[in-house]
Amino acid sequence: MTVALVTGVAGQDGSYLAERLLGEGVQVHGLVRTPDRLDVLPAGLHLHAGDLADTVAVAELVRETRPDEIYNLGGISSVAASWERPVETGAVSGLGAVGLYDAAWRLQEEIGRPVRVLQASSAEIYGSPDRAPQDEGTALRPTSPYGVAKAYAHQMAAVYRARGLGVSACVLYNHESPRRPETFVTRKISAAAARIARDGAGTLALGNLDARRDWGWAPDYVDAMVRAVRHPEAGDFVVASGRTRSVADFVAAAFAAAGIDDWGAHVEVDPRFVRPADPAEQVGDPRRAREVLGWGGTLPFEEIVRRMVRHDLAVLGA
Ligand code: GDP
Repeated sequence: MTVALVTGVAGQDGSYLAERLLGEGVQVHGLVRTPDRLDVLPAGLHLHAGDLADTVAVAELVRETRPDEIYNLGGISSVAASWERPVETGAVSGLGAVGLYDAAWRLQEEIGRPVRVLQASSAEIYGSPDRAPQDEGTALRPTSPYGVAKAYAHQMAAVYRARGLGVSACVLYNHESPRRPETFVTRKISAAAARIARDGAGTLALGNLDARRDWGWAPDYVDAMVRAVRHPEAGDFVVASGRTRSVADFVAAAFAAAGIDDWGAHVEVDPRFVRPADPAEQVGDPRRAREVLGWGGTLPFEEIVRRMVRHDLAVLGA
């Protein structure tokens, strides 16, 4: 039986991944830092409480569970949080990843069979990129504590790959679902559209409506990660839709899906949500993931918005 270890299993991607692996009959061990949001987790999962930054405990967990596949999805999940907690971001998202690669490499040496690792890398490693779209060869120019920690983990993946560990890095662009917390703009919008549709009134305060992102569907990005970890040749893979849309596009589509035509009447710009700097043109070129991994790409933007709004309407009973 295949054994998998998933860090960050209680997050959006971790919960989809756990469902997928359990459905395939894989024995799944999940590392969680705090036992919140456990309601989203499927039955049958072996949960372990611990901190990725505690590399000694993580190495012990790897030795105990002897996984065939390790998915590193844990860490500080937002750029904003990384500015609040830069040291912790480096310890968890940077050093924590290296602790995991090292433990995997040592286990592989000990048992004499491959241990495959997937690093959830991020478009933030490109920071303000010198070209668009970005691909696997684009220079890393991170501009936030989050981006720097992820860039370090990304480059250390290549170091361990050269050392003989099958570690792949998926460079993930923004990916959304009804399991996104409302701290992210997509879910904030879909939840508000549903609420305003139900109440027939209300406003939504947002930051920069012109900000553009390359948005995809989280379960499709999880599929890319599984394909990458199982591909015989480990490497880097950009996982993106290849198109950007603006926050205003998301608002228009979400309000339309909720049956509201005049979204402008319900949205106001609040300077509190405007960021000092937004990365310029973050858009990924997913050709390598498609060609090498046979990845089928992501759901279209309109369908992602529809599914999120439909979910939020259902939650409200609207
Ligand atoms: P990020 O790309 O990981 O930072 O994901 P977010 O969903 O938090 O932000 C996506 C984009 O939406 C960024 O360019 C934000 O500046 C923009 N944005 C505009 N208004 C808001 C808002 O009210 N909340 C958030 N989180 N982002 C907003």
